[in-house]
Amino acid sequence: LFLQPPPRLLAQRRPTRQLMVGNVGVGNEHPISVQSMTTTVTADINATLQQIAELTAAGCDIVRVAVPSQDDADALPEIARRSKIPVIADIHFQPKYVFAAIDAGCAAVRVNPGNIRKFDDKVKDIAQAAKDHGTPIRIGVNAGSLDPRVLAKIGAATPDALVESALWECSLFEEHDFRDIKVSVKHHDPLTVIHTYRLLAERCDYPLHLGVTEAGPAMQGTAKSATAFGVLLAEGIGDTLRVSLSSPPVDEVKVGAHILRSLGMRPKSLEIVSCPSCGRAQVDVHTLAQKVEAAFDGFPYPLRVAVMGCVVNGPGEARDADIGVSCGNGKGQIFVGGEVITTVPEDKIVDTLIDEALKLGGEPDEQ
Ligand code: SF4
Repeated sequence: LFLQPPPRLLAQRRPTRQLMVGNVGVGNEHPISVQSMTTTVTADINATLQQIAELTAAGCDIVRVAVPSQDDADALPEIARRSKIPVIADIHFQPKYVFAAIDAGCAAVRVNPGNIRKFDDKVKDIAQAAKDHGTPIRIGVNAGSLDPRVLAKIGAATPDALVESALWECSLFEEHDFRDIKVSVKHHDPLTVIHTYRLLAERCDYPLHLGVTEAGPAMQGTAKSATAFGVLLAEGIGDTLRVSLSSPPVDEVKVGAHILRSLGMRPKSLEIVSCPSCGRAQVDVHTLAQKVEAAFDGFPYPLRVAVMGCVVNGPGEARDADIGVSCGNGKGQIFVGGEVITTVPEDKIVDTLIDEALKLGGEPDEQ
């Protein structure tokens, strides 16, 4: 099911330490996982679990929930127990919530020890509790929350500043012999992200969580994330990722999974091959492609479905796909396995594709 890229097209994966986030391995040879973060109030257990279920169905491997209050911390045991995928608690300042998350059975905690130290120096106790429970920690440095000491020294959130800040955060745990760590160094600018992760990859062997932070609305954020992740992953850098979008979190998961599939790093799923349309099109290709995508959403088998606007490239692409349509004169020639099996009026194209796809069956897609 993997589309194997040609040898040497992608660099070898960077060797790293490895850790387990629940049952998901991160680092080294473990498959690159896709993460997202819930947007519900964590204390609203049903709403949070509902959103986690939607993310799981979309292919999310690991989910993160924010824990800004005691009510949220109190909800963690039930959420961690009932979620089908590992839950990471995201905590900024309060050590007591870190202990609560570890006790709750969260699969990991995202916390920066530098923040904890400022308020109540419990870093040693956190390291011990995490060690006792086998709970890994993500250290997440963002351009907007750089350690003031580093910011004063370097003057701006440059790649050097982000890396120095991240390694300093790591050292606070290393002092207590805790190294079950993964690291992110996020920035809103993809080129800075590429530069920063390259530097970080040279200077530590921790698994890296890729992210372009505050990437923006869906279209811009998708382009920025695909650009940065594509370069880094092709260089073998990156062990887990989150696409951050100002959009429902299910979109983040879909984009993350598409990026990995495009690089042959995730099993194939449904792939729509549709033409951009042009003056030769004899149907509204954009609307038809959207209808086909919606109709096949959640389809249980990996398939390539071609939606083509006219006879110039249509038959060729439709023939190459598992199933496809080549349109002309208000009709669609339906291809299955490279052969034309029928011609149907435009308003029957989507239903016919679905009917034929269901007949094809095949191996269920695990994504
Ligand atoms: Fe244009 Fe036809 Fe190509 Fe679609 S398949 S882009 S309609 S030439």
